[in-house]
This record gives sequence, structure tokens and C-alpha cells, in this order.
Amino acid sequence: KAKALGKNRCVLYTEKFSQDLAAKLVLENELRRAFEQQELMLYYQPQIEAASGRLAGVEALIRWRKQGDVMVSPAEFIPVAEESGLIVPIGEWILRTACLQAKQWMDTGCGPLQMSVNVSPRQFIEANFVDRVASTLQQTGLPPERLVLEITEGIAIAMEDEQETAEKLRELKQLGVRISMDDFGTGYSSLGYLRRFQVDELKIAQTFIFEVPGDSEKASIVQAILAMARTLKLKVIAEGVETEEQYRFLRDEGCDWIQGYFFHKPMTSEEMSRLLTGN
Ligand code: C2E
Ligand code: MG
Ligand code: MG
Ligand code: MG
Repeated sequence: KAKALGKNRCVLYTEKFSQDLAAKLVLENELRRAFEQQELMLYYQPQIEAASGRLAGVEALIRWRKQGDVMVSPAEFIPVAEESGLIVPIGEWILRTACLQAKQWMDTGCGPLQMSVNVSPRQFIEANFVDRVASTLQQTGLPPERLVLEITEGIAIAMEDEQETAEKLRELKQLGVRISMDDFGTGYSSLGYLRRFQVDELKIAQTFIFEVPGDSEKASIVQAILAMARTLKLKVIAEGVETEEQYRFLRDEGCDWIQGYFFHKPMTSEEMSRLLTGN
């Protein structure tokens, strides 16, 4: 009797936990199936050179069109892909697809377009990550300087050894690719990271952009980031720019590139091709 009671208490205690776990497992299995059945696709969001208005680059953003209709947000499934390790094969597919697409746009004479690809920490810590990037560039024929790898400070936490992280980034840069620090200003991202990791550019986190220039505190943070970036000779991209007011402020403060709904939302490769060729 006592044993049965103990068991019951145990069940109660773990119920919430197993529900979460079950939901995660379901999502993980669905994601694995979706990947196999090619329900994952890349959207592309234009990046605009602030001073000239020229379309200068795109960021590849993954989309999951679940069984034909509903869209699942990457914010929902990337964490699951990370935890399960599925991000490794999916990430390889993302990199290859984005590089192929960039090469194709390049070959159709669309001008010097940069392709930015998000790299998750789990993907970055793979022992052969640098080799993967090298062989993808070789196989797709995309010139390395056209590729930008967006990392977050999460890689430093995942790698644990800062020396090793810096070394890996150095190897990537030797390939000729550029490194971008995504979501800059959130978490612990510091001047120290930027220097040690030798990043080429930083993307100011959306949270700072949304309230400028109205919120004077946010505006001063953005101005400080831009001043620091100038000193370190880093390129700066602002993302999440939704209004003309935000755009003007950022441009006048010397922000290099702008990405956001004010110019374009993320779009399919077909839509992007039409935008690039002007028809
Ligand atoms: P992120 O890399 O910081 O991407 C920027 C996010 O902001 C994207 O959301 C984009 O659609 C959204 N965005 C762009 N302009 C605006 C704007 O003007 N207003 C607002 N409100 N949002 C804007 P998305 O596509 O839902 O992606 C969310 C996050 O998921 C990304 O943040 C990135 O961390 C992750 N993610 C997306 N695609 C990939 C991928 O291919 N690989 C990996 N590892 N992570 C990805
Ligand atoms: Mg990004
Ligand atoms: Mg970001
Ligand atoms: Mg992000």
C-alpha cells in the first residue's frame, strides 16, 4: 500500500515535467519528418545600404510550412533542433541552400550581394564545422567573401573554452568568410568579445531599434554602439527597422546597413529573384 502511494506521489511530481518532455519529443519527431519531407524552406530578407538605398545583402531565414499550410516560427523549433542535435544536418542543408542560391543570383548578374546565414551554437561546436563551410563553398562555387556567418554570443557559452572559440573563428576568417555578431547588446555581449572574436560586423538587437529615436535611453545606447563600432572599424547593421523615422535616425547616426519591415519582409526565393531582377 505504502509503495503504491509513493509511486502515485512520484507520478504527480513528474507529471508537468513529462508533459513538457512529451511535447518536445512530438515536436522533435515532427521536425525530423518535416526535414525529410522537405517542408523546410529558406526565406530571404533584404539588407539595404543606408546611405545609398542599394539592396546590398540578404539574410537567410528558415521557415517550416507544416503539412502545406500553417507556418511554424523558427523561434519555436530552432531550440528543439538545437537540443536534439537535429540542427546539425538541418544547418548543413541551410548553409548549402543559401550558398547555392547566392551563387545563382550572382550568376544572373544581380550585383555584389552578401548572403548572411545564421549559425547556431550547437552547429558551431561540431568538430568539422570549418571543413563543412569550406567544402560547401567549394561545392557551390560561391566566393567566400560573399558569405557572412551570423553567430551569437551563445557560441562562447557552448564552446566553454574561449581560446578555442577564437581559434575556430580565426580559421573561418582565413577561408575568407565574414563573421557577424547577431543580437548585439543583449546578454553579455561586450567590447571584449568583439575584439577577441575579431568579428567583422555587428547587428544591433531589435529591442534597441524598436524604440528609437523616441526613447532617449535606447537612442543613446544605439549611438554608443555606433561610436564604438566606428572606433573598432566594424560594420553595423540595424535589424527590425519598421519606420521611416527609425531609418532616418540610424542613417544619420552612421549605421551602415538596414534590415527590416520598413524596406522588406522576409520573402521566398522566387519573390527575391523578382525583386533583384526588377520584374
Ligand atoms: P535573427 O537571426 O535575429 O533574425 C531576425 C528576426 O527578425 C527574423 O525572425 C526576422 O523575420 C525578424 N524581422 C526582420 N525584420 C523585422 C521587423 O522589421 N520587425 C520585426 N518585428 N521583426 C523583423 P524569424 O525569421 O522569425 O527568426 C527568428 C530567429 O530564429 C532568428 O533571429 C534566428 O535566431 C533564428 N533563425 C531563423 N532562421 C534560422 C536559421 O536558418 N538557422 C538558425 N540557426 N537560426 C535561425
Ligand atoms: Mg540573424
Ligand atoms: Mg538578430
Ligand atoms: Mg537571433
